[in-house]
Amino acid sequence: MKMYKVTVLEGDGIGPEITREAVRVLKAAAEKYNFNIDFDYALLGGAAIDAVGTPLPEDTVKRCKASDAVLLGAVGGPKWDNLSGDMRPEAGLLGIRKALGLYANLRPSKVFKPLKNASPLKLGDTACFDVMIVRELTGGIYFGKRGRFERDGVACAFDTEEYSQPEIERIAEIAFELAMSRNGRLCSVDKANVLESSRFWRETVLRVSEKYPEVELSHLYVDNCAMQLVKAPWQFDVIVTSNLFGDILSDEAAMISGSIGMLPSASLSSGSFGLYEPVHGSAPDIAGTGKANPLATILSAAMLLKISLKQEAAAAAVEGAVDAVLSQMRTPDIYEDGLRKAGTCEMTDAVISLI
Ligand code: NAD
Repeated sequence: MKMYKVTVLEGDGIGPEITREAVRVLKAAAEKYNFNIDFDYALLGGAAIDAVGTPLPEDTVKRCKASDAVLLGAVGGPKWDNLSGDMRPEAGLLGIRKALGLYANLRPSKVFKPLKNASPLKLGDTACFDVMIVRELTGGIYFGKRGRFERDGVACAFDTEEYSQPEIERIAEIAFELAMSRNGRLCSVDKANVLESSRFWRETVLRVSEKYPEVELSHLYVDNCAMQLVKAPWQFDVIVTSNLFGDILSDEAAMISGSIGMLPSASLSSGSFGLYEPVHGSAPDIAGTGKANPLATILSAAMLLKISLKQEAAAAAVEGAVDAVLSQMRTPDIYEDGLRKAGTCEMTDAVISLI
């Protein structure tokens, strides 16, 4: 029987509650589809600061590197808000992405048919959308040279956008491959009318496209893309873009789905290794109440099954169960009249029984 190792980073707030549910779903999927997962646990974020005084212990990096995939809850909370930059829980998040070489962030944003009315957009019956945003995660302006200086007695600051050809090529390749496995359309987003780094991005993506003649490639400036996402999001299949633009566009895409508590994400390095986590944060306001919606983390676990463990049938079963459960019961964040009110565990139980 195939055996995999998954490291779980529960994190803070609702993190332990939602990862516990996703682990239950992974165990159920493994049993049904005949494989084994060995779960290991490690510290990240506020929980790690409390236990060992740093948001990203060396031991955590070691355990993650020794596994096939990582499942993460969320980090942060008011308890650690007064700490300085490098000591904050979020520093653990940036640190683990860098340490594991997670250069591609995949954020699907789609309208779940039963939640269509939650979208702030007016969606007709056929005008639903399902977009995959591929964001470069370890380069660009978030990691470029930065600093403060004085010019003519005036205080100034700068950050630098920098991309190498291999950095653009590898993210473009992931995006083209994804487009091939979906509807065959890829939109590369940049600001090539102004930025040299964007002109280089566009040239490089165009060169990579020669290997993927089946994929229909288009280019948009980021400002136009931001507008198009609100105007007609159904025109997009896969979007690939830089770290900064991807950060903003993926949040916009999440918001227009109306169900931020439903959205998963994957961050990938080379090979099939990846880290999977919900898009939402640690929701300290509802931690410990049993009201957290576990579905974004369960859908992250489905991405883990599909991308890192290559258990496509198990992943499809989990996704199908999530779709079906939405017509039966809901946690308070997505509740609608006429359905059963459910808590975190009850909703997971229903997903498991549908698997
Ligand atoms: P948040 O996503 O944690 O919460 C925003 C709102 O959505 C809250 O009202 C919360 O109750 C609700 N919510 C979030 N997830 C939910 C779920 N699964 N079920 C039901 N309701 C849910 O964002 P925030 O309040 O801005 O941040 C809280 C903390 O989380 C902060 O410390 C922040 O830094 C951290 N954060 C962490 C991550 C991460 O770990 N990747 C991402 C974003 C924010």
